[in-house]
Amino acid sequence: MPKIRKCKQCGEEKLFPVSRSLQIYNSVIQHECEGCGEKVSVTPVASIGILISVGLLALGFWYFILFGHNSYFDIYTVMAFGVAVAAFLFVTIPTILVHVMNPIAKHQNFEEPDIEITHGEKHIAKRPIIWLERLGMIGGFLAPLIFIAVILGIATLIGYVNFTYFK
Ligand SMILES: [Zn+2]
Repeated sequence: MPKIRKCKQCGEEKLFPVSRSLQIYNSVIQHECEGCGEKVSVTPVASIGILISVGLLALGFWYFILFGHNSYFDIYTVMAFGVAVAAFLFVTIPTILVHVMNPIAKHQNFEEPDIEITHGEKHIAKRPIIWLERLGMIGGFLAPLIFIAVILGIATLIGYVNFTYFK
């Protein structure tokens, strides 16, 4: 899974994955360059996809509540919303930039490293996180939407059964 990347510092394809640690919602893979010693933390693209998806949902929902019905909002509301959008960009853009600046190396001429989780070994959601992070960016982006669709589907089904058989 973790790939060798091209180092942005020295330009050599020597940025090797060395360890992986679990954060609250995702894992981070630490890379170290054998050429210049540069250290880079890479967030898997699937987790970035989830982050973008959930962030847009939350902002969209908030936007709808704030500006959907009434036109009576003050400057502070607009500013608070602006700060939230800025915070969202502040969190997501650097994680994407790491991927852009240190692209996956063309020559993966070394054994696929099976790096162990070094930090957060007892994380409660370790398995689902590791599973989700194999999905790629689009998969990560869609995962929360599918999750919500399933919950709504179950809720609808319960409502339907309840309405049909217990009324
Ligand atoms: Zn380097």
